[in-house]
Amino acid sequence: MTKFTDLNLNPKVLKAIAEAGYESPTPIQAGAIPPALEGRDVLGIAQTGTGKTASFTLPMITLLARGRARARMPRSLVLCPTRELAAQVAENFDTYTKHMKLTKALLIGGVSFKEQESIIDKGVDVLIATPGRLLDHFERGKLILSDVKVMVVDEADRMLDMGFIPDIERIFGLTPFTRQTLFFSATMAPEIERITNTFLSAPERIEVARQATASETIEQGVVMFKPSRRDREGSEKRTVLRALIDREGEKCTNAIIFCNRKTDVDICAKSLKKYGYDAAAIHGDLDQSQRTRTLDGFREGSLRLLVASDVAARGLDVPSVSHVINFDVPGHPEDYVHRIGRTGRAGREGTAITLCGPRDQKALDAVEQLIQKEIPRLESPVKSKAVEVKEAPKDEIKEPRENKSAGKPRRADKPDRSERSDRTDNKPTENKQRSRGRDRNDRGHKVVGMGDHLPSFIALSFAERRAS
Ligand code: AMP
Repeated sequence: MTKFTDLNLNPKVLKAIAEAGYESPTPIQAGAIPPALEGRDVLGIAQTGTGKTASFTLPMITLLARGRARARMPRSLVLCPTRELAAQVAENFDTYTKHMKLTKALLIGGVSFKEQESIIDKGVDVLIATPGRLLDHFERGKLILSDVKVMVVDEADRMLDMGFIPDIERIFGLTPFTRQTLFFSATMAPEIERITNTFLSAPERIEVARQATASETIEQGVVMFKPSRRDREGSEKRTVLRALIDREGEKCTNAIIFCNRKTDVDICAKSLKKYGYDAAAIHGDLDQSQRTRTLDGFREGSLRLLVASDVAARGLDVPSVSHVINFDVPGHPEDYVHRIGRTGRAGREGTAITLCGPRDQKALDAVEQLIQKEIPRLESPVKSKAVEVKEAPKDEIKEPRENKSAGKPRRADKPDRSERSDRTDNKPTENKQRSRGRDRNDRGHKVVGMGDHLPSFIALSFAERRAS
């Protein structure tokens, strides 16, 4: 088995790794570090949880140990799809450079430009950024990328999902042709393959086993859910969610609850809070300080339930999560593996429970096909009669009308401008959808007459009307 000491890393880096408690390199580290140290391009096909962050940070630090950065000219660049991931990579750098004098800057949205500019002005060895924010700085003339010697693209498949590929291509074009590129992706979609063929030069390709076989220590289950009426789906599903949390009881020390849509992330978190649960939301429309506060609370254990979108939770390293609850089956089956991988980490036991509504069946089939096993069906924690709430509880949360004209519901991690580019325009499209909802019909046409403000008695069946 390879040892860290076999890898030619800087002794100060080795010291920091030992202090972090790492005993031996993970497969992606053993595979990527040697070619990276030789100055070669690396194409790493690996997911979060495999130790991929250290597989590029450790050689970068070793390579950057010599030399100094000039003002506004970073010597290396790490591009990450989300603010959280960028912040996590920055934390990794701090851990591994603790015995060295390397400087870094983190360029993410939600932090003032001035603060970031003053750090760049002093000269940084490592620049960690989301693509949109990096280009914003570049366009302001505050950043020169012609001295970048190493460029890392982390989670390229997620960049693709988020529409960042044009930005990435542009950034590639702004850095010198002679730079070294370390490129990481969990999957190799054709578009990703094209980028690597264009911008990487004879890369060493290292592929580590996909985590499609979710950890054996995770107990998985699905609760099939059928609303009594379509317009009650949301509130009834939340009733099931609460009953599920109650049924898990003390076993559920903390949980991440994933929703596919940002609106549901908000609604679920608010609803849980109203019912007395210790819950908070995290998604791309919340400001950075709020996101950081929520995450810190969850990590420290002062927050029990974190309601999240896929993007916001991407790459989160929370060591001990007892439960993952999928409020919706994710639209992309790989996201299921990512989501449930938040629990059962490092050999600990974990539970992952998924709620599957009638419209989720196809997505569930895709998940089961990917993980190549049937997820056990669990008994619903709510007797069907009990879910058939006659009236929504008084303190239930109002849901914004769904904009059916947009076709499929928007994925929570389908980034809008605020998350997509991390730029200053922070108006979520959801607001636009909400304001359209009232006076537009399903096809987005102007509604005349009563429109969708249907008196409730009309919605009742004849028999119901007679009874009332
Ligand atoms: P990553 O895949 O980079 O998100 O890393 C997942 C987790 O593994 C992080 O908590 C790292 O601190 C940890 N880690 C990375 N490399 C090692 C290693 N060689 N030994 C033990 N833990 C590691």
